[in-house]
Amino acid sequence: MKFNTKVIHGNQHIEPTTGSVNVPVFLTSTFAQTSPGQPISEYEYSRAANPTRQALEDSLASIENGAKGLAFGSGLAAIDCVLKLLKPGDEIIAVDDLYGGTYRLFVRLFEKYNLKFTFMNFDDVSKLEDKISDKTKLIWIETPTNPLMKLVDIKAVCDLVKGKNILVAVDNTFATPYLQKPLDLGADIVMHSATKYLGGHSDVIAGALVAKDEKLGEELHFIQFASGGILGPMDSYLVLRGIKTLALRVERHSENGMKVAEYLENHAAVDKVFYPGLKSHPQNELAKKQMSDFGGMVSFTFKSGKKEDAVKFLENVKVFTLAESLGGVESLANHPALMTHASIPAEKRAELGITDDLVRLSVGIEDAEDLLEDLENAFSK
Ligand SMILES: *Cc1c(COP(=O)(O)O)cnc(C)c1O
Repeated sequence: MKFNTKVIHGNQHIEPTTGSVNVPVFLTSTFAQTSPGQPISEYEYSRAANPTRQALEDSLASIENGAKGLAFGSGLAAIDCVLKLLKPGDEIIAVDDLYGGTYRLFVRLFEKYNLKFTFMNFDDVSKLEDKISDKTKLIWIETPTNPLMKLVDIKAVCDLVKGKNILVAVDNTFATPYLQKPLDLGADIVMHSATKYLGGHSDVIAGALVAKDEKLGEELHFIQFASGGILGPMDSYLVLRGIKTLALRVERHSENGMKVAEYLENHAAVDKVFYPGLKSHPQNELAKKQMSDFGGMVSFTFKSGKKEDAVKFLENVKVFTLAESLGGVESLANHPALMTHASIPAEKRAELGITDDLVRLSVGIEDAEDLLEDLENAFSK
C-alpha cells in the first residue's frame, strides 16, 4: 500500500458490529465481562486499550512503517515514556538544537533521576563516536530541528551505533512521515507531537510513538499502561481524522513553504533564511536525500539584527496568527526567544543561534499569494 492510501486505510477496518465507516468514539472507561477474567472482547479497561485509540495507534504504525503505535496525552508524555525505558546512571546523547519543552523535560526533570544528558551538534556525525560510552543507551534526534531547521543524517547515526545496544529515537514532528521515514533509515523509535501536523487543525494536544519492532513496542506499551499518559477517545478520533488528510496537507504546506522561503531570501530586510529546501541551506543535499519534500516550517532573521524589528513585524502580520505551535492548516508566526524557546537560558540560545531577531513561520495551506502579501505588509510597517 502506498502512502496516500495508507493515511486513509492503513491497518484500518470497518467497525464490525454496525459497519460504521468511521471508528466510533468509544467513550467508555471499562468493558463488560461474562465471567471474572473473561472480557467479552479484547478490551478490559481504557487505560490499557480503547478501540478508538487502538484505531489511531494502528494507523500510526502503518504510516511510519513500524510494528506498534502508541498515542499519548501530549508529545512530551510520549518522550517521557521513552525515557522510562532507562535506569539511573544511563546516558543519553541528544541534538543540541532541541524543542524547548524536550530540553526542559530532559534537564529539569530527568537529570534529577540521575539520567545523564549530553547535547551535541550532529553536523559531523562521526563526532558521536567520542561521546558514546558503555553507559550510552539512547540517542535522541530531532530533524529538521526547531527553530533553526538543522538536519541530522538519520541513516549515518543509525549505521554508527549499529550493534552497540543503543536505541535511536527520532522526533519526526517537523517532517511528518509524509516527508521522512526514520524507521526505514534504521531508527528504533519515532516520536511525534501529534498536536502539530498529524492532528493538523490546531484543535488537540496529543503525542505518538511508533516502535520498529514488536518487543520494544510492548515495553513502551507497558510503560504507557503503568504510568497512564494515554490519549482520550475523543482526541484520538480527532488525530485519526487529521491523519486522513496528512498527505494532501503536507504537500500544500511544502509548496507554500518553498514559496515563502524564496520570497524571504529575496527580501531586502531579511538576513538569513532557514529552510532545508533552499540551495543556500548548508544541508540541502542531505535534505534531498533524506526527505521527499521540505515542509512548511521556515525561520529567518533581519538584516538589522534588531529584536524590535522582529517584534514589530510579528505585531503586524494578519493572515499569519502570532501564536506558539505549528503544523495546523492556518499559518502561524512565532518569536522563539520570547515564546517557544524562552525556557532555554539566554546564553544557551545565543550559542545555538536563536537570536532575538529570529522569527519562525509555520506556513499553512492558504493561497500563497495571500501569505506573501501579508508578509510584505508586515515588513513595510
Ligand atoms: C510541540 C513539540 C513537542 C512537544 O509536543 P506537545 O504535544 O506540545 O507536548 C515536541 N517536539 C517538537 C518538535 C514539537 O514541535
